[in-house]
Amino acid sequence: MLEILFYHDIDAHVRYAIDEVFGHLGIPFAEFEKPDRLAKLSPTSTVLVLPETARISSNLRGLQNWLRRGYSVLVSAELLDDKYGDLGTQLLGGSVSSRAIGGNDPPRISGFLNIPRVGTLPVFYPFVYLEANGPCTVEGLIAPVDGTEAPAFCWYHSGRSLVVVYAIQTFRNVAYILEGCEAGLCSQDTIVRNLRDVHGNVKGRETELGRRGLLNIPIVDYYERYLARTFDRIAREKNVPFIRKSHFPHGKRICICPSHDVDHLFKNSRMLRMDSVHEARRGRVPAAVCCFLLAVLSLSPKLFGRVAATMSISEHAFPHELKLLGTSFLSMNYLINRLREYEREFRAPSTFFFLSNRSYMGSDYSFHDRAVKDILSDLVKEKCEIALHGSYHSSDLAVLDREKRDLGAALSAEYEIVGVRQHYLRLIGTKSWKRQVEAGFAYDSSLGYEDVVGFRSGCCLPFHPFDPETSSAFPIWEISPIIQDWTLHFRHGLDMASGSALQYCEEIAKRVSEVGGVLTLIWHPAYDDELFPGWNKTYHKLLEYCSSLDPWYATIRDLAEWWEIRNHLAFGECSWKNDVLVIKIRSQCAVPGLCIELTLPPRRELKDITPSGAASLRSVKHLNEEILVCFDMNPGDATITVNTQPRHSMSIDRA
Ligand SMILES: [Zn+2]
Repeated sequence: MLEILFYHDIDAHVRYAIDEVFGHLGIPFAEFEKPDRLAKLSPTSTVLVLPETARISSNLRGLQNWLRRGYSVLVSAELLDDKYGDLGTQLLGGSVSSRAIGGNDPPRISGFLNIPRVGTLPVFYPFVYLEANGPCTVEGLIAPVDGTEAPAFCWYHSGRSLVVVYAIQTFRNVAYILEGCEAGLCSQDTIVRNLRDVHGNVKGRETELGRRGLLNIPIVDYYERYLARTFDRIAREKNVPFIRKSHFPHGKRICICPSHDVDHLFKNSRMLRMDSVHEARRGRVPAAVCCFLLAVLSLSPKLFGRVAATMSISEHAFPHELKLLGTSFLSMNYLINRLREYEREFRAPSTFFFLSNRSYMGSDYSFHDRAVKDILSDLVKEKCEIALHGSYHSSDLAVLDREKRDLGAALSAEYEIVGVRQHYLRLIGTKSWKRQVEAGFAYDSSLGYEDVVGFRSGCCLPFHPFDPETSSAFPIWEISPIIQDWTLHFRHGLDMASGSALQYCEEIAKRVSEVGGVLTLIWHPAYDDELFPGWNKTYHKLLEYCSSLDPWYATIRDLAEWWEIRNHLAFGECSWKNDVLVIKIRSQCAVPGLCIELTLPPRRELKDITPSGAASLRSVKHLNEEILVCFDMNPGDATITVNTQPRHSMSIDRA
């Protein structure tokens, strides 16, 4: 089986990116710090990765020896840079040469990478021009922003070694985006450049990716895809199998997390005035008058609050029609239910973020109102998730802590709040994540832009944000929101009509499914059809489209829990002997629907699969070149034995 070993002496940012990238890919890897670790591994099945910033000069001779023995090598551009003199060429047998291309540090977009079957991606750090000196297979092209193209990846043989050279600094590029530098979380220069809105949020459209219209590309996921393809191809050329963990249970290719920020439960005066206008336009005069009166009434929050609370409590006593009549004007419970009705149709649970009223720009309800408690318990019964919408100033630990406790007190004692999304998506640098960790949250879902839809973190899979203070990952998952209703239809956002918005959302969803990602949706219960005609239908149609992609519908909590388990699931020592692949897995808890993606050497095909120990087989599916093996895992050790046979011998049962 293909073994991947990284050179250990590298920069903390590159180290961080490697952990996140390989976590996403579900590919096990190790470091080669000591040569004896390497001596145990066969050169035919081992690839050594020399990432950018690797400080290898002192170990050069040792490395040259290993390469002479025939280990495969994947090298990032910086090794060929001037900093290392001709170190790179010495190492790699001189089949490519290079010259460095300029770029800034801290970087801006320095060029564009074009990978067949992957797409066009921006590159942030300096890259190199590769020139092939001998037989060399070139893949992809790279060009400076206004310059001529050169090979992006070179593949060649040096003695018994298979060598792959990347012109780009893959991991530094990934680190740059995941650390939030492009998203304006790393530096203060966005203040100087006046890129922030009144809430202090960076305007997505003013960032470099935003200005170039690149926010709809999950850049990190695409980088990862090419890496996975590289390893897959090395495995084929070396005639060994390659395995990786599937992203989601039962091998699903996309996860959809519908979510709702409950900023209001009652309509405010402005909303009611707008309702009144809409009703009048539709010729419903009594309704228009009623809305107008309520709008006036609601100018006195004290009085209105009491009326609204009474109506919302008393709705339990009224028949359905009356309830609709009363609550459509007053209580958002009706609107929550309407969103839920759509979701129920597609058997989708969702996550609700509730906002405290004891804060600046807070909500208009209290967690402890009887009506609110009823809403909470109804949602929990439906397997929806209750999470905290951290208030405007909740980057302060005491505030965040208090709000979490307050919301918790409105729920049953055993219900644990694990998720948070900041109101207005206000992340205060990396401080918010630090506070969230301290307050005991397992995930945050705030890293999106208010003014544009897309991939602010460059990625649509959970990842750990980077803590610049410790130069390592925060122990919290960031599950970035991708599409927000507000952003689509507000004038300060994309100002789209519902039809074109739907088309745009479908394109984004398609892209997420291409990379096997998570599509997190924010739909506000407050922005209903009365305020924005057609928008509820847009949500319904979007869910309908998402369902056609055969998704895993999950609450963000379900996803975070699954991702944590998947992350901890460890491959033991696997072997490939006499054309039999033995995969060992260890799990500390039950994992139903765990899947492994498996590629066999080109001349072998699957004969049978026998699990033993803690695993029981569920299904085996063939997808193009890959085999998807799904099983239920119990706590403990499992061994999966994969018997293969020469290809074209006899047809196999396709499960
Ligand atoms: Zn909010």
